[in-house]
Amino acid sequence: MGEQLYFDNYMPVGDIIVLSVSLVMMILLATSHVTRTRNFLIFLNMLFYLMMAGLVNLLMHVRFTRITDGNYTSIYVMGILYHAFLFSLFLLYIVYLVVIFRLDGRIKTFCMRISVAMYVLFLATDIFTTAIGVGFHINKNGTASTGLAIFMIGYLAFVLLIAALLIQCRKRIYRKAILGIYGIMAISYAVLYMQSKHDQTSFTVATFLLPVLGIMYLFHSNPYNIELGSVSATAFTDTIDYLFRRKRSFGYISLYLPGYEFGDKKLPEKLQESIRKFSSEFFKRSILFRISSGQMLLIAEHRGNPDFEQKMQVIKDAFRKEYEVYGLDFRLLIGESVDEISENNEYLALIQHIHNNTELNNIHIITKEDVESFHRTMYILRELEDIYKKQDLEDPRVLAYCQPIWNITDGKYDTAETLMRLQLDKIGMVFPDEFIPLAEKNGYIHVLTKIILYKTCMAVKSLVGDGYYVRRISVNVSVLELHDDNFTADIEQIIRQSEIPEGKIAIEITESQSDRDFLAIKSMIDELKDCGIKFYLDDFGTGYSNMERIMKLPFDIIKFDRSLVLASQSDERSEEIVGRLAGMFADLDYSVLYEGVEDETDEQRCIRMSANFLQGYKYSKPIPVDRLEDFFSKAE
Ligand code: C2E
Ligand code: CA
Ligand code: CA
Repeated sequence: MGEQLYFDNYMPVGDIIVLSVSLVMMILLATSHVTRTRNFLIFLNMLFYLMMAGLVNLLMHVRFTRITDGNYTSIYVMGILYHAFLFSLFLLYIVYLVVIFRLDGRIKTFCMRISVAMYVLFLATDIFTTAIGVGFHINKNGTASTGLAIFMIGYLAFVLLIAALLIQCRKRIYRKAILGIYGIMAISYAVLYMQSKHDQTSFTVATFLLPVLGIMYLFHSNPYNIELGSVSATAFTDTIDYLFRRKRSFGYISLYLPGYEFGDKKLPEKLQESIRKFSSEFFKRSILFRISSGQMLLIAEHRGNPDFEQKMQVIKDAFRKEYEVYGLDFRLLIGESVDEISENNEYLALIQHIHNNTELNNIHIITKEDVESFHRTMYILRELEDIYKKQDLEDPRVLAYCQPIWNITDGKYDTAETLMRLQLDKIGMVFPDEFIPLAEKNGYIHVLTKIILYKTCMAVKSLVGDGYYVRRISVNVSVLELHDDNFTADIEQIIRQSEIPEGKIAIEITESQSDRDFLAIKSMIDELKDCGIKFYLDDFGTGYSNMERIMKLPFDIIKFDRSLVLASQSDERSEEIVGRLAGMFADLDYSVLYEGVEDETDEQRCIRMSANFLQGYKYSKPIPVDRLEDFFSKAE
């Protein structure tokens, strides 16, 4: 290497490019929505060191040409600083890789130790060799020579370490990203090689710029959607964190278009335009997020938009007008920030909750009650989760209520249906309409069934023990839990362990349209029939009944839903239809049970319509299981 030319061949272009590109990157990062993760902070530090290295190198060369008195101390100091910044960059590359490869334990400690050791070693040697004059030095005649090129040795060592790490851990990240990193490294070496070929040093810092650029693009790119001017769901959570930490309040609007949620459908050009217009026209500095393909969310800080409330009215009107144009199904929610929700970053869950509880094609302003209802749901969900985790069949929060059923043939109460309730500390009794859908959706239903079945078995045991005649008690089962491999084994085990006489338990299930559910129901019945369990088809007459399928399943009892009891009341013809349907089941040896019998006239009509069993408020509301004694009679 032509050492004498160290300073002469230097051109500032390399460093100027590094400085300006780094500045551009900073501006881009500040004006886009990049998720501020831990590795993003490391990345910002890398950018900083990169700029410092470029700057010091530039200043050192400028300063060199100005020295006339032969005192080069400042050059030596700057030279060492320059190397220190570049070594720091190497160190940060390694920290960064450790984070994105999610290394931990021994390998992480090893990487960190060896790179810190290298950092200290090379920097100390660099300072030492410079100090004693065998490293970089400036000769009497004013020319510089690199002497022992400690920096180049360090550079090589770090590069080898990074290469080893990349090869070792290449499977730990997205394959294409690793190819990207290899490519960038190859180009950096090519630049370094070319510059040494031409006795150059001007582009050393630039070879550090390339990997930084690559990292920004590969791992911190901005999820901006050009069509809508929107950013992604992660950017949304990030923004909420940011606003909450700075105690800023804001309003938000969520637009959900169910028709665009699935199947990667593109929003029509005109609609995109409307959405863009909405987000820019009404608010200052608002941000539009595309949460999913069908959900858009707009946030506007109150500080920039003190008139948010008034604008809501304007927006509602404007939205209605747009709706007339497109006629698309939608859900639109308008709300304002609530500290508790911001703190837990729960807006998406809140919005989802409200979507589930409001009608389609309505504009809904989120109220305090909505937020309370959301908290209530979250509380129930946490309790359900806890019940699920504990798997305690005696869990006191799960209550077995029972509704006694009138047996027309024998003229007495000898069967009942168990209905579940939850008894929760903070809110008291919760009814199935509220918690069953939650339990089903989150996979907690099966444990509830087990508890209810267990408690029902215990009730049967105690009734029989006290000398009551119990024909059987039925328990509701959700079709979702049938897909659980342990389902039948769990049911059998609980019944067997309770040591009640065979045949005292029945299972109620509602019909389902899907083939998969049909098969699951069929195989459950086949497996459990042998241990004396009877099966009730629940809610017959709601939804779509497929007679062919019902006939294929060996049910014992068909439960006619209250809606049929109500329908049969309207006129003679309706009674005739429901009655014939029931008669047909009776002819086929099914027993017919009418649900929701509320008064004398319901009762008389049901009896005329081939009823075998009657259930409803006429006889009893659901009561705690231990009060069944008031209805059942002693065995003769
Ligand atoms: P379901 O199985 O159809 O239960 C009958 C529902 O009708 C019960 O509501 C009962 O209280 C109510 N009911 C009884 N008699 C009358 C009446 O005369 N008139 C009227 N209008 N209603 C009457 P509940 O207890 O709120 O249960 C609602 C639903 O929750 C049940 O409907 C069932 O689908 C589900 N459910 C209840 N317990 C369980 C359970 O342990 N497991 C599962 N998977 N679902 C359950
Ligand atoms: Ca039922
Ligand atoms: Ca029912």
